[in-house]
Amino acid sequence: MEKTLFEKIADREIPADIVYEDDLCLCFRDISPEAPTHLLLVPKKPIPRIGAAQSEDAAVLGHMMTRISDIAKTEGILESGFRVVINNGPHGGETVPHMHIHLLGGRQLLWPPG
Ligand code: 5GP
Repeated sequence: MEKTLFEKIADREIPADIVYEDDLCLCFRDISPEAPTHLLLVPKKPIPRIGAAQSEDAAVLGHMMTRISDIAKTEGILESGFRVVINNGPHGGETVPHMHIHLLGGRQLLWPPG
């Protein structure tokens, strides 16, 4: 199987500004940021999208959720607030078929999203 874009970033085949990494996931700056802080938190295991997650993925997905507060604190947006987004499929706006959590902050975000 061809590696996904985000597997290539995890394997350092494509450069990225990585801000956090452990054995299960990594977090790096989005190449086209929509906010002053725009990070992508990605499981190293290439789950295609949240709609394809299986019971066996519960541990890594739960682990990622627990990493968000530490990453937000390091980025200085824990107190001001931030948003987490997972785009799924065509109507969700997914463009990279390797599940990822967007972490956006550093400005007032609008609701509802477009
Ligand atoms: P999606 O649209 O699938 O929810 O999010 C994919 C995100 O990946 C987009 O926000 C896009 O800017 C980002 N992205 C696409 N290619 C690259 C890349 O090569 N490096 C980085 N750091 N981000 C990328």
